[in-house]
Amino acid sequence: MTAHTQEASVHELERAWMDEAIRRATNSVANGGGPFGALVAKGGEIVALGNNQVTATLDPTAHAEVSAMRAACKQLDTFSLEGCVLVTSCEPCPMCLSSALWARVDRIVYAADRHDAAVAGFDDRKFYDLFDKKPASLWPMPVEQLDLPNRTAPFDAWLAKSDRIDY
Ligand SMILES: [Zn+2]
Repeated sequence: MTAHTQEASVHELERAWMDEAIRRATNSVANGGGPFGALVAKGGEIVALGNNQVTATLDPTAHAEVSAMRAACKQLDTFSLEGCVLVTSCEPCPMCLSSALWARVDRIVYAADRHDAAVAGFDDRKFYDLFDKKPASLWPMPVEQLDLPNRTAPFDAWLAKSDRIDY
């Protein structure tokens, strides 16, 4: 196989994965979830799928991407998704983006963007705007430091633990 055809088939594979994510997102609506679907793939294979389950499970963090990453970690028996691609029907919100960074995902591919989501009434763009432009003092939710003398005690304990698993 030439480099060119290899590239073309990777592209084909990702289109098929995206189709699957979009199909899942659409089915999710009929099943009482939000209109979002995602999957995690590694080495050309789908590892795990996820769809939005915020209202179904009363969990505001149960976005499709987070659900797919949780399932993928369980499946691969690891907390690191290094070497994985996250394929999602819609541009990840700041929470999912941060989760993917923590999971060390290699790459993210999305279809609909934050503006498409805003048309459907989802807050992603508002949150992006907060992170991009607004100083924390102007946020609708105050974030304040309460400085105590023992504030670094958990980190001291962590650094002193010789068998810790860094992540
Ligand atoms: Zn999200």
